[in-house]
Amino acid sequence: MNQPQRYSASYSQRPVFETPASPNIQAILERSLLGEELSVQDACALFATSGSDADAVLEVADKVRQKRTGDVGTFVVTRNINFTNVCYMGCRFCNFAKEKGDKEAEFLTVEQVADRAEEAWQRGATEVCIQGGLHPDIDADYYRNLIKAVKARVPNIHIHAFSPFEIWYGCKKARLEPEVFLAQLKTLGLGSIPGTAAEILDTDIRKQLTKNKLTTNEWVRIVKAAHSVGVKTTSTIMYGHVDQPIHWANHLKLLRDIQKETGGFTEFVPLGFIHYETPLYNDNPDKVRPGPTQDEHFKMHAIARLMLQGHIDNIQASWVKMGPDVAAKMLRSGANDLGGTLMNESISRAAGATHGQEVTPSDMIANIQAAGLKAVQRNTAYGVVESFPSSVTLQRIPMMGVV
Ligand code: SF4
Repeated sequence: MNQPQRYSASYSQRPVFETPASPNIQAILERSLLGEELSVQDACALFATSGSDADAVLEVADKVRQKRTGDVGTFVVTRNINFTNVCYMGCRFCNFAKEKGDKEAEFLTVEQVADRAEEAWQRGATEVCIQGGLHPDIDADYYRNLIKAVKARVPNIHIHAFSPFEIWYGCKKARLEPEVFLAQLKTLGLGSIPGTAAEILDTDIRKQLTKNKLTTNEWVRIVKAAHSVGVKTTSTIMYGHVDQPIHWANHLKLLRDIQKETGGFTEFVPLGFIHYETPLYNDNPDKVRPGPTQDEHFKMHAIARLMLQGHIDNIQASWVKMGPDVAAKMLRSGANDLGGTLMNESISRAAGATHGQEVTPSDMIANIQAAGLKAVQRNTAYGVVESFPSSVTLQRIPMMGVV
């Protein structure tokens, strides 16, 4: 089942783009403009482009974005709540995790999480995004109690919570199959789950990133279980480390195949690897890349748009990873969404990212308008909360405390 479209796409006109491209690239891009499905080989050819060919890829991605989602750039007002940074999984790309007893170790009570959710609601957030490490003290009821506490305090906020790895951990603790565990969470008020912990859905690459993390099959199993009980998820990729374009192309195809089967992905979010302070990079600086290049960021968003068109039509540019200015430029290279205002964000900052924490709604609107698009505040499911004509300037909202 395909994701329902908000805008009707018309492919009746002749496929036209202005940037000159070599014949092979031109043929792929014309097929894409006609709405045809691209293969893994097509995507690899597009990832290998440079110069004018690469510019043509971005131009066509912009045209397809316009056909699929209109001249609109969206964002969501959300608060990130990282309820614990204690985790023993030892992912080598992560410098967020601490050990129990570390000076910086933190484990919020469910009431503290509810306090933060209430504060976010009072400041206009429609969503809280709740994720944390796999703390050994998490018991069978923790995830369920957390949803209950937030819903009791803020009944109308959308709870976007728990990565597939956390769901896997919760199932293990509760001794339940994912469908049963997820259905329970949904009944208690879980709205959707982030499709993080995907990294690269390739067995060999995952082994180099982490010893113990969820396998590709387990990630797919949890995500499909969520979709089967009516819990939507996002989808992600973490790129720019030991991976190659073939892994990116295969990853996009796998997400497209899952979406054809379930229709449960709301969006695709490319997340560039941030290498600072990570053992993955620091132990092997000769073999591990220090994150994607700017060209790779642009091509990832553009080619994702072309590979996923008609299936996952929301492509999010992460300002936390790339910075607000670069993320805004992605809106004219395939992306249509700038993600969340976040209010607090500590995971990327722990890995040395210079961005993260908060972009205000007025910054989001300004960045979207600077890209020449109409700014729309959306909810988690991409419904319109408010549209902003170009003349509106919002008052700045003060920053909140750091997690
Ligand atoms: S990436 Fe997540 S699961 Fe892995 S060590 Fe960090 S917090 Fe733990």
